[in-house]
Amino acid sequence: MPERLATLDDLIKAVKEIRPDADISLLERAFAFADSAHKGQLRMSGEPYIIHPLHTAINLAEMHVPDNMIAAGLLHDVAEDTPITLDQIQDEFGEDIASMVNGICKVGKIKYRGVERYIENLRKMFMAMASDVRVIIIKFADRLHNLETLDCIPQKKAYRIALESLEIYAPIANRLGMGDIKGKLEDAAFRYVMPKEHAWAKELAGESMQLKLPQIEKVIEQTKEELDQTDIPYVTVHGRQKHLYSLYRKLLKYNRDITKIYDLTAVRCVMPTPADCYAALGVIHSRWTPLKGRIKDYISQPKPNGYQSLHTTVFYDRSAIVEFQFRTKQMHEAAEFGIAAHWAYDEHKMIQIGQERIKEMIDEDQLDWMNQVANVQAEISNPKSFLESLEEMKLDAFNDHIFVYTPKGDVIDLPEDSTPIDFAYKIHTDVGNTCVAAKVNDAIHPLDQPLKSGDIVEIRTDKSRKSPNPDWLKFAKTRHARSKIRQYARMGIAGWLKDIIPGSIKKK
Ligand code: MN
Repeated sequence: MPERLATLDDLIKAVKEIRPDADISLLERAFAFADSAHKGQLRMSGEPYIIHPLHTAINLAEMHVPDNMIAAGLLHDVAEDTPITLDQIQDEFGEDIASMVNGICKVGKIKYRGVERYIENLRKMFMAMASDVRVIIIKFADRLHNLETLDCIPQKKAYRIALESLEIYAPIANRLGMGDIKGKLEDAAFRYVMPKEHAWAKELAGESMQLKLPQIEKVIEQTKEELDQTDIPYVTVHGRQKHLYSLYRKLLKYNRDITKIYDLTAVRCVMPTPADCYAALGVIHSRWTPLKGRIKDYISQPKPNGYQSLHTTVFYDRSAIVEFQFRTKQMHEAAEFGIAAHWAYDEHKMIQIGQERIKEMIDEDQLDWMNQVANVQAEISNPKSFLESLEEMKLDAFNDHIFVYTPKGDVIDLPEDSTPIDFAYKIHTDVGNTCVAAKVNDAIHPLDQPLKSGDIVEIRTDKSRKSPNPDWLKFAKTRHARSKIRQYARMGIAGWLKDIIPGSIKKK
């Protein structure tokens, strides 16, 4: 925790460092708007609430995203937690920023309700969000600050938030190529999820024979001197420490043997061109002796995730080794900021690539997903309902589905053009059969009118209603709803009787 509270100036400084031509007036307006909206509210930590959106915005600035996303980060809790409406945000900041804020509000409505539904909800949440990857990125920035202030909330809740970050958010950041935020989310969560392993990894890192970050400063100076002498141009030379959770994962892979890990700390040389990277490698090898078999050319042969860099490890002195990484500025930005780096070229492209990556991920994780399903199988006593839920988990429904919410925040996925009747039957057959009216986003909504993704749907039922209206067949969209309505229509008076006097009609 910082000793002093962050200010607007900290944000402006962070933004200007990355983009000197940033639209500061937009950020000032968004800050003033959020500040006055949150006036008087406090965080659990006792700090003024505005500190949270401010840190979210600073995190976003460090992720190299555009100004409109940083502004949306400042405003992200306004519509949810204050009397200000989304329409007011739209009037003040336009449709694009308002739509991002709206997306974040909806994600926030999802609540933890038992492990099985929780995984399913999150999967759906990310599918729903895939329509605008910017919402996910803002959510990362928001989540990172929440992780940094976990000490102030009850332990059980803190654990759940940390676990969710480690298992859901970080892998998604990874898939979006956002190495920097992935590492930050993981490290912030690691300590809460696995305190013992965290302490163990931290201790091992301290005992490693590699140079520690403060010692790396000297290597950096020497590296710059060497390069200056040869006239090879460089952009920056800086040190980097391996993220602790990433170290932990690597340790598990190498039988917990710290001596097998060479990249605990590294010197990163950002060079103007790929040719400069190879030239600099030669210079470093003539100064310090390379370890055998440690040269890795991911420039000519990128990793499957697209990662590009030239790596080598050298003996710094008899007792210390150090890894060097050479890369161009573009390779560096791609590795650290992933999808957000695409924005510099084309914002539309960023959104599109985001959708593709998330879709890919859902496809690839299908196997894992099925394993999870197998695990919950034991808990499901009724094999038929298990088969039905398997059916629902089929992952081919990406394009032509909408995602709507119950008032409690559960996500319900439905085919496009589904109506409140389809929603009601999806909740429960009884809810469908006794449905009399629907409210969507707090307003009365005709039962025959289609729902949209993001709608919050509330069904009014009347228990005295004994059967569905056959007219509903004219607009019910899902097979499930239609078959239930038809069942009653077919049964006619006999069905009614059966309902009133159970057992009065014999089954065929
Ligand atoms: Mn927030």
